[in-house]
Amino acid sequence: MVSAPAGTGPVAIDRERCLGSGQCLAMAPEVFDQDEEDGLVIFRGGTPPAAVTADIENAVDNCPAVALSITN
Ligand code: SF4
Repeated sequence: MVSAPAGTGPVAIDRERCLGSGQCLAMAPEVFDQDEEDGLVIFRGGTPPAAVTADIENAVDNCPAVALSITN
């Protein structure tokens, strides 16, 4: 499990579950990126806009592998 860096929001990634399907990147591109080596989800660096919380919730709700979770 990888928790979000400061400023990203209340979300965690379970990379052991991730399938690399890419929905989360499409829904919250300010937050998630894809590892070039293994194709799995990673956090982007930097601080995303404040309005990104709804995008994170959409990504969590639509991850086919249930690899994302709200942490608080
Ligand atoms: S939507 Fe889920 S399975 Fe797809 S890349 Fe994102 S975390 Fe991985």
